[in-house]
Amino acid sequence: MKTLHTIAEVRQETGNIRKAGKTIGFVPTMGALHDGHLALVKKSAEQCDSTVVSVFVNPAQFGPNEDFNKYPRTLQDDARLCEAAGVDVIFAPSANEMYDSGFDTWVEVNGVAERLEGEKRPGHFRGVATVCAKLFNIVGCDKAFFGKKDYQQLKVIEKMVRDLDMDLEIVGVDIVRDLHGLALSSRNKYLSGSEAESALALSRGLYMARAAYEAGERDAESIRKIVKDSILKAPYAEIDYVEVCDAGSLEPVQKIDGKCVILVASYLGQTRLIDNTEIG
Ligand code: AMP
Repeated sequence: MKTLHTIAEVRQETGNIRKAGKTIGFVPTMGALHDGHLALVKKSAEQCDSTVVSVFVNPAQFGPNEDFNKYPRTLQDDARLCEAAGVDVIFAPSANEMYDSGFDTWVEVNGVAERLEGEKRPGHFRGVATVCAKLFNIVGCDKAFFGKKDYQQLKVIEKMVRDLDMDLEIVGVDIVRDLHGLALSSRNKYLSGSEAESALALSRGLYMARAAYEAGERDAESIRKIVKDSILKAPYAEIDYVEVCDAGSLEPVQKIDGKCVILVASYLGQTRLIDNTEIG
């Protein structure tokens, strides 16, 4: 496995892989890798001949009052995990390598990027779409793998790829959870013991809501209330939003009819966590 830091080195390396007739799977990450990221790597290894992982804490997708400075940076550990998982190349650029001083071009997805996270975190998806467009251009992959943990991000990237005719396939991968149901996230590292316990209210609420759906409930407001009540009962937890949306457009629905997704964002103390579950 090679760990590369410059765009030129990655282009050279992936060019050689393509010349050898091999397909390339790409897994973009911000590092602090856990089993959720490794599930994406595993999917890539199953579907492609070689796998490239990027590790880049992208300043452009953090708001001014967000956790860019304290976001965990653990490249040595990440490299060990990637090596063991069969990754061929890690791309770990500096911020200057990705955004030189004259950088002035942005990718802005409308519609699906404007709601939920887009509303709560202005500029977030502009940063995500821009860095993904750049990374896709640098790596030149056949497929890129994204977790459903960040469900809206997956939809935004799918839309960008479609609208801009990018020549790659986006593959969505199921959420990986811990034994108690908590969706794995690099941000779980910020949680105190009691906050981590309270955080289980998110997945528990989603689980109960899904059970109600499976028992026949189709009213979105009733489904939202189940998730909200679960979080309201948890100390240290504060709801940011709970929504039931069409699974494709992420438009909110009133009656659940066809494929939908229940999405939740909540603060646990200072830490903001998101989770979701697909229904229908
Ligand atoms: P991040 O490093 O948080 O930007 O995440 C990089 C990729 O890993 C994104 O596509 C995430 O959706 C995905 N990911 C993060 N956590 C999980 C998880 N628990 N299950 C599945 N995918 C995940």
